[in-house]
Amino acid sequence: MQKAKLAIILPAYNEEECIEDTSERLLAIMEVLQKENLISNESFLFWVDDGSNDNTWNLIEKLHNTNFEKIKGIKFSKNFGNQKAILAGLFEGFKYGADCFISIDADLQQDEFKIKEFIQKYQNGAKIVAGIRNNRKTDGIIKKAAALLFYKLMNLMGVNLTVNHSDYRLVSREAVQALQKFPETNLFLRGIFNELGFKKDYVYFDVKQRKYGKTKFTNEKLFTLAISGITSFSIVPLRFVSSLGVLMSIVSFFVGLSAMWEKVVNHTTIPGWATIIVTVGFVGGIQILCTGIIGEYLGQLFQEVKARPRYIIEKEL
Ligand code: UDP
Ligand code: MG
Repeated sequence: MQKAKLAIILPAYNEEECIEDTSERLLAIMEVLQKENLISNESFLFWVDDGSNDNTWNLIEKLHNTNFEKIKGIKFSKNFGNQKAILAGLFEGFKYGADCFISIDADLQQDEFKIKEFIQKYQNGAKIVAGIRNNRKTDGIIKKAAALLFYKLMNLMGVNLTVNHSDYRLVSREAVQALQKFPETNLFLRGIFNELGFKKDYVYFDVKQRKYGKTKFTNEKLFTLAISGITSFSIVPLRFVSSLGVLMSIVSFFVGLSAMWEKVVNHTTIPGWATIIVTVGFVGGIQILCTGIIGEYLGQLFQEVKARPRYIIEKEL
């Protein structure tokens, strides 16, 4: 069995409390895996500082200086978001010739001892190994409900997404090479890895409480991620808009017909102020909603058309 050169990708945004502890814990795991002949001695940690404004980068640099072969990293010029950080980790780590990559959160909320299982599945031929959360115990009620709604919606819209999928995953060199052919600015990684093909496998893990600091995923960031997931993978909402338009026209045709009937045949003048107000309000609301949905796609298109760089690297170790 060929020993794999592993790169562990760690996106970090203002994570000064955990850089050292996380590095230490992961290096220890890598050492064990090296002894077990599962990974090669050239395996390394790859930190991606997503434009932090705390001590994150200094700590990464310090660690690199004590152990430059095992700890590498890049720093973004500003906060580009966790998806871009993972992507950059894969693309930049690729240049160091890694055979496989595992992305994991810097706070190690995801069970790091499962790394071995990821590697074993890779050794057994899987090119993409997705981490699936066993539970959402650590999430608040709103986050839990939002996640459930998101996965339900995505499945309804025909997007092939695995429920409770996370960004804790192993990707082989071949898969990263394939990923480089996707020029989209807004990549929704959980979706794109299902599009690539390749042999897939799954690892189930528990999520722990965050040990240091607090979540860097604000509700706004989560919402943006969800909308980008939807608009980059499904046009069902657009079809829904046009179907709704057709339906509304049919309904209003019959409403018009009945109004004519009342006037011409029954000669009753309708006192229906309430009906009119309700209808106008209802139709108006639907129109605004539909315009909004179209607007989301337009926004997505706007960003894609500009084809701006996905991230900008300021420093590299
Ligand atoms: N993260 C990032 N950029 C951001 C937000 C988060 O690189 O803009 C990183 C963060 O440092 C962590 C990972 O993404 O390594 C997951 O974030 P977090 O633990 O805050 O999210 P949660 O576990 O609460 O969903
Ligand atoms: Mg976390």
